[in-house]
Amino acid sequence: MNNILDKGSLESLRRMIADSDRIVLTGHVRPDGDAVGSTLGLWHLLTRLGKRASVVMPDQPPRSLAFMPGFKEVSVFTRHEDFCRRLIGEADLIICCDFNKPSRQDSLGPVVAEADCRKVMIDHHQDPDAFCDLTFSYPDMSSTCELMFRIIAGMGYYMEMNLESATCLATGLITDTRNFTVNCRNPEVYEVLMHLLEKGVDKERIVREALLAQSMDSLKLHAYAIMEKLEIVEPMRAAIITINSEELARFHYERGDSEGLVNKPLNVRGIVSSFFLREDDDCIKVSARSVDNFPVSEVCERLFGGGGHRQAAGAEFHGTLEECRRMLIEALPSFKHYLPHKLDKLEY
Ligand code: MN
Repeated sequence: MNNILDKGSLESLRRMIADSDRIVLTGHVRPDGDAVGSTLGLWHLLTRLGKRASVVMPDQPPRSLAFMPGFKEVSVFTRHEDFCRRLIGEADLIICCDFNKPSRQDSLGPVVAEADCRKVMIDHHQDPDAFCDLTFSYPDMSSTCELMFRIIAGMGYYMEMNLESATCLATGLITDTRNFTVNCRNPEVYEVLMHLLEKGVDKERIVREALLAQSMDSLKLHAYAIMEKLEIVEPMRAAIITINSEELARFHYERGDSEGLVNKPLNVRGIVSSFFLREDDDCIKVSARSVDNFPVSEVCERLFGGGGHRQAAGAEFHGTLEECRRMLIEALPSFKHYLPHKLDKLEY
C-alpha cells in the first residue's frame, strides 16, 4: 500500500496522542456508519493504549449501527448535554472525524470549536475549514474509515488494532462505498479491506446490519414511494421522490426508514441523478445521489445552500415540499451541460 499520508503529520498526531490523557472523538450530526465507525475504530485503539477516550456525537446514531462494538459507549449531546460538555471541557485533545466544518455538528459545533485544547481533523470531505491544529483532509478517499485505517497503520499501531476496532473501520468503509459499488476505484481500498478481514471482520454481518436491514414499515414505505411518488424529469434524466409528513405517518416513519431509497432510481439505466425530498418537522430534507459524475453537490449547494460529495449530497430547504420540488425542477436544466455526452436510452 502506498504511503500517501504526510510523515510529519503522522508523527505530530502520534505525539499529540502520546501527550494526551483525555481524548474526545467526535463526528457529524445524524452520524452514519463512517462517522461512528471512524470514531469508535480509533476509540478502541486509544482505550487499548491506556487513554481515557470518549466518543461524543451531536445526536443519536441510527439503530442500524447498534451492532458495532462500543456503540453503547457513545455519548449523545442532545441527550446528555452537561456530561458531553464536561468531557469536552476536560479534554486534552479532540479528534474530529468525518466532517470538515463546525456547522456539520449543529449545536455541538461551537462547543467543540471553542474548546480550549488541541484539535485534529480526520476527514474526506472537500474544502475543510481551518479550525483544527492538525488536518488530515483526503477528499479522494472512499471513507474516513479508510483514512483512519491508514493513519493507525501509519503511526505504527497496526498490531494493536483489535477485531472490535477493525469491525468499526470496516463498517464505515462498507457503508460509504455502499458495499463497494461507489467511491472504490482505487485498488488500495481492497487492500485496506483485506487487512481488516485478516483481523477477523465478519463482512457479511456488517453488510446485513448496516446496509440491508430494514423494518417491514420501512420496506413498505420504499415500495409506496417508488410506486406512487416517483417522477422522472426526462430531459435531465433526473428522478424525484417527494414524501410528505402525512405519508410518513402512514408508514409509522422512524428516522432511518427512508435510508437508501434515494439510490433506487439510479438502478434504472439512463437515470443520472436522483433526489429525495422528505418533509421534516421544520424543513424539507433533500438528499441527492448521482452517477456519471453529475455534481449533485453543486445542485444542493446552489439551490438550497447544502453540499456534500459530488455524487452524494444533501441540503435542508425552508419552505413547503411543493416549493422545494418546483425549485428543483425549474433549476435542473441549468445543469444540463454536466450530463454525459452519450446518454443511455432511458429504459422504462
Ligand atoms: Mn464519510
